[in-house]
Amino acid sequence: MQKLIEGLHRFQSEVFTAQRDLFSRLSQGQSPEVMFITCSDSRISPTLITQSGPGDMFVMRNAGNIVPPYGMGADGEDATIEFALVGLKIRHIVICGHSDCGAMKGLLHPEMLETLPAMKTWLKHGEPTRRIMDANYRHLHGNALVTATAEENVLTQLENLRTHPAVQERLERRELTLHGWVYKIATGQMFNYDHEVGQFTPLARPALPPPLQDERAAG
Ligand code: ZN
Repeated sequence: MQKLIEGLHRFQSEVFTAQRDLFSRLSQGQSPEVMFITCSDSRISPTLITQSGPGDMFVMRNAGNIVPPYGMGADGEDATIEFALVGLKIRHIVICGHSDCGAMKGLLHPEMLETLPAMKTWLKHGEPTRRIMDANYRHLHGNALVTATAEENVLTQLENLRTHPAVQERLERRELTLHGWVYKIATGQMFNYDHEVGQFTPLARPALPPPLQDERAAG
């Protein structure tokens, strides 16, 4: 805890003063373009891994980056998603799972959750993932199984996200894009679900704009 408090004082004396204009602008309001939904795991630092800053992302975190289907009693998640879309007019939602996820291990081994009754109830929102793993991934073990579960869970939670009325509405109006990502802690790599190939593939750099036409060649 001491480390955090010392860091806070260093932030105020060094970082804040150096970026005073940014923080002054942010004090008037926020208009992030991206909502980032990820796990509470301490090893995932959304702003660090995306090299973004204050005001860039509206973040929702919980154990297992879970998005319960709309109206299932998860009022905090329902309200956060509603506010992101209706209040902030978010254009992109990323659901980001990760390797070595404790919640995914709990999903695979419910017997580990005897002393965690609230977690057991929460992970019911990941039950479709558990069934898919049971049916299709019996050949995997250890880390590979946990990472595959994190991938399938991202897809399950994207489906759940589509049950939210504000999400449905924006998707129909083509004002919103959904993204499924999985972060590998050991390598720092990010994998993106590619709808065309039906797989998670390394997240590519955005395509550069086409080069300006060479006038001599054109002329
Ligand atoms: Zn996790």
